[in-house]
Formats: sequence, structure tokens, C-alpha cells
Amino acid sequence: MSTPVQGGAPHRVAFIGIGNMGWPMAARLVGAGFQVVACDVAAERAARFAQEVGGEAAADAAAAVRGADAVITILPTSKHVGEAVAAMRDALAPGALVIEMSSGVPTATRGFAEALAGQGVAMIDAPVSGGVPRAVSGELAIMIGGAEAEVKRAEPLLRAMGTTLTHVGGVGAGQAMKALNNLMGAAGFLIGVEALLIGQRFGLDPAQMVDVLNNSTGMNNSTQKKFKQFVLSRRFDAGFGLELMAKDVSVALEVARDTATPAPFSALCREMWASAVKLLGPGMDHTAMAQFSERLAGEALGGGNRPG
Ligand code: NAD
Repeated sequence: MSTPVQGGAPHRVAFIGIGNMGWPMAARLVGAGFQVVACDVAAERAARFAQEVGGEAAADAAAAVRGADAVITILPTSKHVGEAVAAMRDALAPGALVIEMSSGVPTATRGFAEALAGQGVAMIDAPVSGGVPRAVSGELAIMIGGAEAEVKRAEPLLRAMGTTLTHVGGVGAGQAMKALNNLMGAAGFLIGVEALLIGQRFGLDPAQMVDVLNNSTGMNNSTQKKFKQFVLSRRFDAGFGLELMAKDVSVALEVARDTATPAPFSALCREMWASAVKLLGPGMDHTAMAQFSERLAGEALGGGNRPG
């Protein structure tokens, strides 16, 4: 077991949250030669990770972080991160570095960082963009908030998971950037689906519309990577939850509120995603958001059948 050394490059890494993103990201670290200790509240996921990918599995967060130079968290929300921080806190060695990679709430993360600083543990935030495919290939975009020295220390780990690392400010700044990125993604998805529904009613073919948009100025991430793949195909399985996207749009609104920035368009976007979570129920993929617009329109894209 290595002893955490302030300022040294991390070697032993506790990885908390072996979910859709955590699994492939932790796998990149194993592949890069780091000693990974996997941990998840769903204990069987961590055990399966250790068995199928490598490293070790720990029964709980405290056991995972004991002797770790670095701790990575990638959990659904800041509430879950708060629970994990409370569980691991006493077991963290002074000099350890916590890298919070969830799409969380900047003010909450600042609070965790301040609390941990009191015991000699540094924390930065480094949320990611690119989804499961780029987590698998190690090509995530990573937005980093924190002090320069800690960001440097985290770099060898982050380089194993992402290709675009951008240090955007102090603790919480990465998560503010991430929330605003997903606000744009969420709005782009929604307006795109509406355009496809309007076009279909006019007599245009939605699949052909996507091709035209991708060669025109209406192109966005949803026209390129979501509409044909997950909506028109009716697969709705991109690997990013509807509730998580709704949460991200809410975080963006919190940032708007905290900065007293008027954001009426964003507020409407948030209302629609939050309503879809209620209407469509738990456990849906975020691309199922199209079904919300389809219900409003009373018709489905592609097939012309009324949605259920
Ligand atoms: P997920 O629900 O697939 O995985 C989260 C994991 O955390 C689950 O395995 C869950 O059991 C575990 N967990 C919850 N609370 C825990 C705790 N206290 N201790 C240990 N484990 C705990 O979620 P995901 O899709 O991997 O997303 C994780 C984060 O990354 C979210 O903040 C999300 O917004 C963000 N994100 C997701 C994607 C994506 O495409 N899925 C892309 C970019 C960012």
C-alpha cells in the first residue's frame, strides 16, 4: 500500500461510483497502470469490475480510500457525493487528493472542498463530457476547477480518461461549465425534436431532415449523434439518464440564479425536462425526452403511430 505524499503523482486510486460512466473511466485507469480500488453502493458492480477489468473492490467508501493517494467520485448528484464524502472522510489520509468528476452543484462542491481542506485533503472538480463512447475510448472532454498545483497533480489520471483537459477556474468552475454545456445540449435536443415533428406534419421525412440539418446551419450534437441513433431508431438507450439531464439543466439554472442572470429560455427548458421526468417515469434514457414532445404533438416521429 502506498503512503499519500503531498504533491506526488497519484498511484493508488479509490474510484467511487462504478456506473455507466465510472466503469469505463475506471477501466481506463486500470489500463494505464494505476492501482484502482473500485467502490459502489451497488457492491456487486464493484466486485464485478475487479473481476472483469482488474484492480480491487472495496466494501465501502472508507475501506476504498484507506491508503489511496487519490479518490475519484463520479456519482449521480452532489447529494450522493455528500454522502460518499461523509462516509470516507475519517479514512482519508492528509495529503490525499479528491477529484470530483460528477456533474454536480458548484456551491455544494466548494462546501465539500472547504471541509476537506481542514484535514489537509485537497479537492478539485473535473466533470466530463462525451458520454459513454468517449469514456470507453478515453477521449472525454474534462472541465477542471481547482488550484493550479492540485490540477497538475491530477493530470496523469485525467490524461488516462480524457483528451481535452481545460482548467476553467477555481473549485466549482468545472461544474458550472459542465452544467452550461448540458443546458445547451438539452435545449438543442428539444428544439431539434420539435423541428422534426413540425417537418413531419408538413410532409418532410424526419430521417432526411436530419441529413439536411447535418449539412446545414441547424446541425447540433443531437442531429449528429442522437436523432437517428436513438430516437428515429426507437432505441432510446444512449446511456445517459433523463433524470441526470434534467438535474444538469437545474444546476445551470442555479448558476443563473446565483449570478443574478436572467434566463427565461433556460427556465422553460428546465420546466420541460423536469415535466418529462414526471410524465415518463424513472429509469428512462435522456433521448426518451423525444417521447414527451411526441405526446404533446399526439404523434410519434418516423412511424406516424400515436405514442402510448
Ligand atoms: P449512473 O447512475 O450510471 O452511475 C452512478 C453510480 O453511482 C451507480 O452505480 C450507483 O450505484 C453509484 N452510487 C450512488 N451513490 C453512491 C454512493 N454514495 N457511493 C458509491 N456509489 C454510489 O450514472 P452515470 O451515467 O455514470 O453518471 C454519473 C455522473 O456523471 C452524473 O453526475 C452524470 O450527470 C455525469 N455524466 C454522465 C454522462 C453519461 O453519458 N452517462 C456523461 C457525462 C457526465
